[in-house]
Amino acid sequence: MDIPVENAAAILRESGCTIAVTGAGISVESGIPDFRSPTGIWSKYPPEHYATIDAYLANPAKVWRFWRQLAIDFAACGPNPAHFALAALERHGYLKAVVTQNIDALHQAAGSKTVIEYHGSARKLFCLDCSATCPMDMQALSDSPPRCHVCNGLMKPDIVMFGELIPQEALRASAEWGDACDAVLIVGTSAQVYPAADLPYLAKRNGARIIEANIERTSFTETITDVFLKGPAGQTLPRLAQALGLEAPEAHAAE
Ligand code: NAD
Ligand code: ZN
Repeated sequence: MDIPVENAAAILRESGCTIAVTGAGISVESGIPDFRSPTGIWSKYPPEHYATIDAYLANPAKVWRFWRQLAIDFAACGPNPAHFALAALERHGYLKAVVTQNIDALHQAAGSKTVIEYHGSARKLFCLDCSATCPMDMQALSDSPPRCHVCNGLMKPDIVMFGELIPQEALRASAEWGDACDAVLIVGTSAQVYPAADLPYLAKRNGARIIEANIERTSFTETITDVFLKGPAGQTLPRLAQALGLEAPEAHAAE
């Protein structure tokens, strides 16, 4: 018997409202590396040149080509068993929402319905003039930065670049979930990016139990984690789903 998994399953059974808080680690097994490691994307494309709003406004064509390639790379990656396990937990009432820092839209692709994208989505576009948004049409991406279908203004990937604020709606919704939940399942986040990292602490102060899935310990583990599921999330989360009697979570991908 896998005691941490059984303990985590018991928390989910008892909890009336559980949310997941996910980060780059959940998508590593989908083939999307994290950004910060020595071989991560920022080592080749420094964020100050490719991921700030000022860099985009100064040279939209150069920065656009970077984000277009990233969207193409993301589109070639599918959800992994960890994403599917979270979708299965939601479908069976064990999870109310996923608050993610990821911009790859893989939770939705796995079938998760209530997904709060803290840092936006690299698969959508946002108009800098009129704030219209639209899905990125992968067939129609050109070398030039996209123009708005409503006002012809310059569009950008609908992600939170350095120097931009977290969308108010995402902040409001995640704070509400942080207040309302009585358990948090943290998956693959290093707890270094604020304000996203605050959410589990807020929930813990309100009495929530904390389950954490990661390949290594983090500052959450040292402070607030009640049950630590050590290992790749693509293995530990399906085990958690199975302990709750849910089978073959990946069979239920989004239609
Ligand atoms: P991070 O890179 O700071 O931390 C990743 C965490 O995942 C680490 O603690 C690592 O130990 C853990 N991890 C790695 N592989 C794992 C696995 N297989 N299973 C479980 N855990 C694993 O990531 P962060 O905390 O999310 O912060 C990174 C920022 O960069 C975020 O703001 C995010 O928006 C952005 N980002 C997004 C993506 C994406 O959309 N997929 C990818 C990279 C970075
Ligand atoms: Zn517009």
